[in-house]
Amino acid sequence: MSSLHCRSCGTELKHTFLDLGQTPLANSYIKKENEKTAEKQYPLHARVCHSCFLVQVEDVVPPEDIFSDYAYFSSYASSWVEHAKSYADNAIRRFDLTEKSFVVEVASNDGYLLQHFVKQSIPVLGVEPAANVAVEARKKSVPTTVAFFGRETALKVRADHGPADLMAANNVLAHVPDINDFVAGFETLLSDKGVVSFEFPSLLKLIENVQFDTIYHEHFSYLSLFAIEKCFSRNGLKVFDVEELSTHGGSYRVWACKRDADRAETEQLVKTRQGEQLAKLDSLAGYQNFEPRVQKLRDDLLIFLKQAKADGKRVIGYGAAAKGNTLLNYCGIDSELISHVADLNPHKQNTLLPGSRIPVISPDEISNLKPDYILILPWNLKVEISSSLAYVRDWGCHFVIPVPSTEVLA
Ligand SMILES: [Zn+2]
Repeated sequence: MSSLHCRSCGTELKHTFLDLGQTPLANSYIKKENEKTAEKQYPLHARVCHSCFLVQVEDVVPPEDIFSDYAYFSSYASSWVEHAKSYADNAIRRFDLTEKSFVVEVASNDGYLLQHFVKQSIPVLGVEPAANVAVEARKKSVPTTVAFFGRETALKVRADHGPADLMAANNVLAHVPDINDFVAGFETLLSDKGVVSFEFPSLLKLIENVQFDTIYHEHFSYLSLFAIEKCFSRNGLKVFDVEELSTHGGSYRVWACKRDADRAETEQLVKTRQGEQLAKLDSLAGYQNFEPRVQKLRDDLLIFLKQAKADGKRVIGYGAAAKGNTLLNYCGIDSELISHVADLNPHKQNTLLPGSRIPVISPDEISNLKPDYILILPWNLKVEISSSLAYVRDWGCHFVIPVPSTEVLA
């Protein structure tokens, strides 16, 4: 029964945020030879805790399955490496980091972030659960230990290396099943004056912009500043600053320190808190109107796709990302409505999408198919994708965005 209690505060979960029904795991791409085998379905039901207002789904997938052979290397995305460099430069200045400091990143991936500290002779350690990714980090001279992070790992690192002056955890908090043990690990490893930053997609943006497709099985928690402050204070941390970033459709970078550390709250923290209060994220009222807005989004997208089909138009999708699978499966879209989905990743090409069974092709095939519309599934990358595919306009093809509502780009 533990799965029906809040992973943060333990309160029994009684309120639905959005029930997406039974769906296959978003990253379980099907090889053509397994076409006849039905894939396993799992409930995808997001609930909101009426005590701490953490939105969450049950952890049906063990973290080992998500992280142990994780194929995504952060350094593949050049904009992300730039983001990392400016983070490092600013943190070194703001917190006076020197060659006597110690910086730890949790879920440090291939060293995309820590390499910028190494270049300035600041000692670092990466903690990364995927062994194959840690190998890449060591090639960049970023010392990396292969482990899941929590109190136990924190104690070990502290015993071996001493306390950390700066810690970072980017886009990992939402994927952690035991959020209290994870957060307590930071309290354990930080020095008395140390600071830690966490980046995660904002629940406020998810609600405002109907980003329901960011809900999938491997993404356990959907975080507001409100819910995070509750969780941090339970585990001996306090938030003193927050930055609002544009990544992933709108993210927070939350800065925290030990509860007794002498750090004043910034104006931006007060402002972000007020924004969440205004949206009623500190009461059930802020969560209750979401489901009908998602149903409206689905209905409008289906009307568009069925009309396109009736008019003899060809529609393909672009970007076989996890969020695309949530959208396609919830809307009940199959290869009758979207004939193919193109994706740059060769590991996804020649597979079928889980659930919808739409074939994944190489973007090279787009010019043979000459679609009339391309539905951009990772809508957060619409600018990059529509400019990299600008040539499709030669035959009059249009780009379509599904979120926050169906929109044909001019
Ligand atoms: Zn709770």
